[in-house]
Amino acid sequence: MTVAYIGIGSNLGNKGGNCLKAIELIRQGGLTVSRVSSLYETAPWGIKNQPRFINMAVEIKTGLPPGELLALLKTIEKKMGRKKSMRWGPRRIDLDILLYGDLTVRDDALTIPHPHMHEREFVLEPLSEIAPEAVHPVLHKKVSALFAERRGEGRPE
Ligand code: AMP
Repeated sequence: MTVAYIGIGSNLGNKGGNCLKAIELIRQGGLTVSRVSSLYETAPWGIKNQPRFINMAVEIKTGLPPGELLALLKTIEKKMGRKKSMRWGPRRIDLDILLYGDLTVRDDALTIPHPHMHEREFVLEPLSEIAPEAVHPVLHKKVSALFAERRGEGRPE
């Protein structure tokens, strides 16, 4: 079993409900959800002119290899009615693999750790609530340290 962290976001419809529904579907998909963060309301990133997001992070324990985990998350996104839309645009649900043990993956379909996690306060805040001691295997820093670096710096334009 590997301990992994999933980032969850929604800015369409019942945003908090969408995030909680995604967690239920993750459980139904056979993964053990061992920690769940609070819900955080955050400003949109990338494209600013869109509704605010609700973001969460969960810790899971899984025997699925990373590619199969990604496939499961994409199935859940589809099931929840996520339509293909513009990059960084509004979405009913967004599920990202943030960390997968201390594994690093870099291929066309999947990059782990998530390539932007260390620069996004909306990812680091919920993640540091549930996993402050987890270590980013490329930057070799704790999540709590990455969050402290990012906190209050604002978002890049
Ligand atoms: P997005 O529209 O931001 O949800 O991006 C989705 C695409 O990013 C997926 O189709 C994945 O192939 C790719 N991707 C690359 N790395 C990751 C990751 N760590 N977690 C989730 N999706 C990823």
